[in-house]
Parts: sequence; C-alpha cells; structure tokens
Amino acid sequence: MITIKNLKKSFRTEEVETLALNNVNLTVEEGEFAAIMGPSGCGKSTLLNIIGMLDNPTEGSYNFAGHEVAGLKESQRTQLRKGNLGFVFQSFNLIDELTVYENVELPLIYLKMSKAERKQKVREVLERMKIAHREKHFPQQLSGGQQQRVAISRAVVTNPKLILADEPTGNLDSKNGIEVMNLLTELNQEGATIVMVTHSDRDSHYAHRVINLFDGQIVTESKNRAVGAAL
Ligand code: ADP
Ligand code: MG
Repeated sequence: MITIKNLKKSFRTEEVETLALNNVNLTVEEGEFAAIMGPSGCGKSTLLNIIGMLDNPTEGSYNFAGHEVAGLKESQRTQLRKGNLGFVFQSFNLIDELTVYENVELPLIYLKMSKAERKQKVREVLERMKIAHREKHFPQQLSGGQQQRVAISRAVVTNPKLILADEPTGNLDSKNGIEVMNLLTELNQEGATIVMVTHSDRDSHYAHRVINLFDGQIVTESKNRAVGAAL
C-alpha cells in the first residue's frame, strides 16, 4: 500500500535548515498495523503527514496504492485522499462549532453523499463507537475519551483504506487509551491499514511492527506479530 524510497524532507526557516527526514525507506503492506516510535522532534509527524499527503517530500519517492504521489496534480491528490485516508490526532481536532453528528457528517458532505445516506452512515458509526447518545452535543461538552471516539468516527465514516493516527492516546487516561487502541485494532482486523505514531510502549504492542526513528532516520524495525495473526 505504501512504498517510500530514499525520502528526505528538509524545512528551511530563515537561515536555519532542518533535515527532518534523512533517507527513509519504508514499505507498509495492505492490512498491516505499523507503529512509528522515537524521541520528540525525530520526524514522526513529518513522516505521517507525508504519508497522508498533507506535506511533500524534498527528495525521494512515495507510492501510495500504485500512485506515484509526486507526479499527481493537486486535484488528483485530493481525489486520492478522499475516502482513502482517515486521520486521528492527539488533540482530536474536532470543530467546536459543530455538533458530534455534524463533525462526523463532514467528510461525507465532501464526498457529495446524499443526506439520507449520510444519516445512515453517521448513525451507524456513532453507534459502533458507543457515542450515539451524544450526537447533539458539542465537542467541549464531552470528555477526552468521548472526543477521541468522535474523531475516530469522523476518520472512519468513509471506510478509508488507510488510517493515520498521530499519538491518538496522548491526551487520554489509560482506560480511554486502551479503549481507543481496541477500536483501532478492530478496524485493522476488518481490513484497514493503520500507521500510528506513539510514545507509548503499551500502544506499540497492538501493532504488527514497530519502526524506530531517530534524527530523521529509521534505526530499527521489529516485528511483534504477523499480519493477520490472532491476538
Ligand atoms: P516528531 O513528530 O517526531 O516530534 P516532527 O516531525 O514534528 O517530530 O519534527 C521533526 C523536525 O522537523 C523537528 O526538528 C521540527 O522542529 C522540524 N519541523 C517540523 N515541522 C516543521 C515546519 N513546518 N517548519 C520548520 N521545521 C519543522
Ligand atoms: Mg509529532
């Protein structure tokens, strides 16, 4: 699903140049659950953003599901992102002015789905994420764990092939963190590929493979268990 070759990413601000990713080579298979770990500032979010096509590499190639991303026009890239990618962030990134229902409905509006179909999909995912009873609430009226369940609902309502999660349990207590990891594991078992950045050893055990980044380079990769193996 993902093939990254000799990828470099540098940021230039005034006189300072930061090499955030330095010659990264990475393959992620369809159906895999991969965790990216490493100290703060080592390039984890930069790598996830490039995988999510939110940012472009400075050098190297990135192939997503058979598409060479660098060769795509912005409109083609938007098209590829739509429905294929779901994002989950540490800070939830919900829209405070919209209700739970409206937050989750948004990606379906972008897909130009009919109102009736949207209603069915939103209700289904909210039930599944055990947050349907809060559909008329606003994000600020919910606990952190509930907000992350809404954010996951929004990420998966389009049935994306790939879920990208940047420290999804970073703001949660252990009970809610484990609940989020169980939800991600279920989604993976149903076929979604997951790439997750985490600081947590506990969370890394849910992944098939742990990729350790240091100073913008992959230093080690370790397998937890085979893709498709029973937990
Ligand atoms: P991590 O997620 O592992 O904490 P990041 O990927 O956010 O690390 O950052 C990697 C490096 O790139 C850091 O040195 C960071 O300061 C730098 N960096 C990230 N984004 C930008 C940006 N938009 N502009 C300038 N430097 C950036
Ligand atoms: Mg980060």
